[in-house]
Amino acid sequence: MIRDNVKRILEELPEDIQLVAAAKTRTVEEISEALDAGVRIVGENYVQEAQDAFQKLGHRAQWHFIGHLQTNKVKKAVEIFDVIETVDSLKLAMEIDKRCGHINKTMSVLIEINSGKETQKSGVFPEDAVRLVREISLLKNVRIKGLMTMGPFFGNPENARPYFVVTRRLFEKMRTLHIPGVDMIFLSMGMTNSYKIAVEEGANIVRIGTNIFGERV
Ligand SMILES: *Cc1c(COP(=O)(O)O)cnc(C)c1O
Repeated sequence: MIRDNVKRILEELPEDIQLVAAAKTRTVEEISEALDAGVRIVGENYVQEAQDAFQKLGHRAQWHFIGHLQTNKVKKAVEIFDVIETVDSLKLAMEIDKRCGHINKTMSVLIEINSGKETQKSGVFPEDAVRLVREISLLKNVRIKGLMTMGPFFGNPENARPYFVVTRRLFEKMRTLHIPGVDMIFLSMGMTNSYKIAVEEGANIVRIGTNIFGERV
């Protein structure tokens, strides 16, 4: 079933769009099945869960962190992840920079945009994003590669479109700024119920869990 889901999604997705299999709460066996079916990138929300999966699956996948990263988990996180999609403060970026310095690594990061300006959600507000990107761009061991957003959740994903548009416009504006050391190439938006609309609005990374693995229990 996981196999069929992955094949169907990969067939539908335009070729230049990267699929991140959002793996929170899934077993290593389930993730492994997704990899066998053609998934290349696994998204993890929790460092502890990622450690277990990484130990067993290692470099069969690329690993993206897509959850809320606490500074006390950064040391472990930088050992596992290829990309941290959810950087939303200078403080977090500085900790990543420091820990990467210790292990001689440059971390690719996306800046998480709180496109719905929801107070309970993480992410930087759109109007504060350029300043944050400029600040983080000065760090030696962190490389900004694009933007990520969750956006508010709606039963009807059409309602999520304006938040994808806000994020895409910001992405385009940042490209025109040509900030030294910043590669504005990835735009990560859209989940199971909204990824088609996100792709219409310019996403080139989509993060899909339920549609691959089934409903979470
Ligand atoms: C869980 C999660 C997803 C995937 O959600 P589904 O609705 O299961 O596809 C995508 N992005 C993030 C940040 C998530 O936490």
